[in-house]
Amino acid sequence: MSHPSPTTAPGGDAAQRSDIPSRRLLLVHAHPDDESINNGVTMARYAAEGALVTLVTCTLGEEGEVIPAELAHLAPDREDALGAHRVGELAAAMAALGVTDHRFLGGAGRYRDSGMMGAPQNDRPQAFWQADLDEAAAHLVAVIREIRPQVLVTYDPNGGYGHPDHIQAHRVAMRGAELAGRADFRPDLGPAYAIEKIYWNCNARSDVEKGFARLSAAGVSFPGIASVDDVPGVVPDAEVTASIGGGPVYAAAKAAAMRAHYTQIAVDGPFFALSNDLGQPLFGSEHYRLVHGEAGAPEGEREDDLFAGIPAGAGSAVGGGESGSRTAERTEHRAADRMEEAAE
Ligand SMILES: [Zn+2]
Repeated sequence: MSHPSPTTAPGGDAAQRSDIPSRRLLLVHAHPDDESINNGVTMARYAAEGALVTLVTCTLGEEGEVIPAELAHLAPDREDALGAHRVGELAAAMAALGVTDHRFLGGAGRYRDSGMMGAPQNDRPQAFWQADLDEAAAHLVAVIREIRPQVLVTYDPNGGYGHPDHIQAHRVAMRGAELAGRADFRPDLGPAYAIEKIYWNCNARSDVEKGFARLSAAGVSFPGIASVDDVPGVVPDAEVTASIGGGPVYAAAKAAAMRAHYTQIAVDGPFFALSNDLGQPLFGSEHYRLVHGEAGAPEGEREDDLFAGIPAGAGSAVGGGESGSRTAERTEHRAADRMEEAAE
């Protein structure tokens, strides 16, 4: 992003700047590394195309398992220094993707990694799993009203694979989107703003199966191979409504971003492994389900652009000038309608 124009009022938010990109994408994730694994291609592509790509990460991933033996001392049961380390990994990953706007929900360290479902860490007062939903969502409302994204990407209600922080990130993202569109919620956080389209991450079953077939044939260095059921958010192909690829440059950016998360991910060519040492395919094309908003592709066809069908200028009027309150009122009603449609 370029620097704010000289006309920017001191303290004015991004939405009031004249140089804010017309297309704005917000992604909400649980831990550093989830964004690169799920959306690395998408983020790299939109950043390269000049869109504002904003990542909100909900925890520092303090409870992650550490892969490199020489960094094992960072682990939560030793120095408990993994969170701070992963802040650096995330920054390097964002540099690889060309993304400059990344934030932690409520500020770095506000919410702690809850560990896997059922772990005693779930019950810590600071654990994200214990967060008050509306309080956590209010942090996101502030971001939504500041940057006014037309598109939001997050997980499905199961968080893709049942990790408590992923489930909670889904809840916070959906609740934040709903509350951001309500003029009666925290007017101190800015004028109401309704997001046009919301997507949940998913993986198309046939793609995953083909990926594992490639992996089996390739003979990679990982001690084992994962299975289709180990991949989060696998859905029947027919449920996928959008596919975002873009070719080898973006796939390479994604692989570089995943490599930046080196305490968590081992990358080998077009494959990778998490701390379980089981190889999985690294996908150069990412899939989504549209759960809120109008599809920008004909019935039965997949969108190839998350912004498809969004009217030019959508999201540009709220908070600026005479049409602000009218637009806020309209978007508030629209948000209420659509949130009902998107209800789980
Ligand atoms: Zn995660």
